Amino acid sequence: MLELISALFPNLCIMVTLLFISTTLLPQDAARLTFGRKVLITLCMALCMAMIPLLLYRYSVPLGPGRFDLRYVPIALGTLWGGPLAGLVVALPLMGLRVYEMNSGTLSALISIGVLILLATLTRPRLNLRHRNRHLNLRDLPRVTQVFSLNAIGTVFAVNGVATFSQIYLPLLIMNVAGLYVASAVVQHRLGILSTLRTALAQSRLDALTGLANRRQFDEDLAELQPGETLLMLDIDHFKAINDFHGHTAGDAVLREMGRFLGSALRGSDSAYRFGGEEFAVILRGDSPPSVTQISERLRQQVAALPPAAPSLRPITVSIGAAVHTGHPPQDTLRHADQALYRAKNGGRNRSVLWEPPPPAPPAETA
Ligand code: GH3
Ligand code: MG
Ligand code: MG
Repeated sequence: MLELISALFPNLCIMVTLLFISTTLLPQDAARLTFGRKVLITLCMALCMAMIPLLLYRYSVPLGPGRFDLRYVPIALGTLWGGPLAGLVVALPLMGLRVYEMNSGTLSALISIGVLILLATLTRPRLNLRHRNRHLNLRDLPRVTQVFSLNAIGTVFAVNGVATFSQIYLPLLIMNVAGLYVASAVVQHRLGILSTLRTALAQSRLDALTGLANRRQFDEDLAELQPGETLLMLDIDHFKAINDFHGHTAGDAVLREMGRFLGSALRGSDSAYRFGGEEFAVILRGDSPPSVTQISERLRQQVAALPPAAPSLRPITVSIGAAVHTGHPPQDTLRHADQALYRAKNGGRNRSVLWEPPPPAPPAETA
């Protein structure tokens, strides 16, 4: 057995390395990927995974009556992870090679792979590897053993098969079970890191108080503003007075309420952000004046009609500045929306103003 373990070390290294490489293909931000890119990544991962049994078989170790390698482990992992079809995809190149070789072991290899995929499919619901933060532990040993309980069963159909099977069965079983623990630890560890990274990335773009997208996300989206899209800047009127008279906790409750309102009042294509302090931004897509004016007026009226965030508070109002992006640098649109907001404040607050370009200067009189 010791001889087998040391002989299998290169096999283990190949498996771990290729599993690691496969998981590096997993995208950090899957939600933002196009359908085509998702398909491409899935195909690349399937190809990478399918290479593993092939290479493990290529570097198998002849010992006694059998050849030992970890080729069944990625097939079992693929099935446990993605179901029988995924297992079959991982096994396909190896099955193709065995058919191409067409020797006395071909039929037994195909039977063994088929039985392995079947057993892994039956065990899959109870091992539940897809579950978040799932790691195989000692309590899973009977189920992992069950996956490989008929490993190399195809051998019995070969000449002297029963004798060979009885000699290789136990070492192969121990090797495969240990191999699956290692393989699953590599994949689960990588997925754990990725999931933490995704959560951290998502949180880095969210405002902790209101739950809206934050300034970082706003800056990114502003840079990608398209002509015809509209930027609204909303500022809560006399917000400082709420803090001063009712305390910061009440002020925070008002900000949270605004976040809840903006998160639910817009269409799916529009986006709301906490710009900073008591200022919010909205990007409207696919609208142009006069519907922009109607939308910002509607938002203003809805805010004024919101029930107070706390019983002791009075209803709040907002002033809104709007600017339609016309193709000049997005920072100009931000400046225009800000100027419109300034006019709304100066005009008495609780109103919305759409920025309009200054009228062209009259032609200079000629003498
Ligand atoms: P105006 O109508 O001109 O907009 O007056 P305002 O009082 O709303 O505006 P001002 O700029 O004078 O005050 C904004 C206040 O918002 C000051 C600041 O203490 C408060 N503020 C900024 N961020 C937060 C926050 O996260 N929580 C709370 N409670 N207050 C905040
Ligand atoms: Mg302000
Ligand atoms: Mg304000």
